[in-house]
Amino acid sequence: MPELPEVETTKRGIEHHICGQTIEACVVRNPKLRWPVAAELCHLPPGLVVKSVSRRAKYLLIETQAGHIIIHLGMSGHLRILSKDTPLEKHDHIDLVFNNGVCLRYHDPRRFGAWLWTNTDPHQHPLLAKLAPEPLTDAFNGENLFEAIKHRPTAIKALIMNNQYVVGVGNIYANESLFLAGIHPLRPAKRLTQADCDRLVRIIKQVLSAAIDQGGTTLKDFMSPSGKPGYFVQKLYVYDRANQACLVCQTPIQREVHLQRASYICPHCQPA
Ligand SMILES: [Zn+2]
Repeated sequence: MPELPEVETTKRGIEHHICGQTIEACVVRNPKLRWPVAAELCHLPPGLVVKSVSRRAKYLLIETQAGHIIIHLGMSGHLRILSKDTPLEKHDHIDLVFNNGVCLRYHDPRRFGAWLWTNTDPHQHPLLAKLAPEPLTDAFNGENLFEAIKHRPTAIKALIMNNQYVVGVGNIYANESLFLAGIHPLRPAKRLTQADCDRLVRIIKQVLSAAIDQGGTTLKDFMSPSGKPGYFVQKLYVYDRANQACLVCQTPIQREVHLQRASYICPHCQPA
């Protein structure tokens, strides 16, 4: 599943190809995504120019003078920059076609993604309005996290994956960050100290930044007609390493399932 680093890499991979370009049409072959593709996209007025591409949490925002396209990649979506004449593959559901002959092509086998439209402030859209701070901004810091969770009995992993506390920390990055911070995923949030919160925030920022930096090496793949953009797997300490030796202490990594999500834990490095 594309997580925040992949969405940020996608933004960086596509923005310089489409900013300033004039949209010729939005061709929707299959409108049945997680929500129906916005009707406005099928009838865009001519001459819209892409003014910017930005990201909020895992949403991509394509700004035009008439409104914003809001894209979510869902479980399996990806975007590529191609000649509009590139033959279609199965699951190529949408093309945003530009008058320079290029298109932004959306491919999504599982169709959990979204293409929506708003002609008002996209940050006030119901999907975006209540999102917590971006993890890589100063608004996400140890003091704010400590204040927000200090009375919560909920497992810390569930809270850092909850968009009400911080956005964009998916299961892989939650597991990796908690390992590196030496915190058991099921530790009740209210038992974290201020120092724990400071350390956890610092490590979440490091883990996400490292993944984004690594994604930079795959940017050329956004123009490859074959295959999908090179999403990347950074060096993982615990995620998907059940029964393998901890890279720090050699203790076998344990896999447990909580709330239908797998947690990977070194019982030595992450005391409960
Ligand atoms: Zn260990």
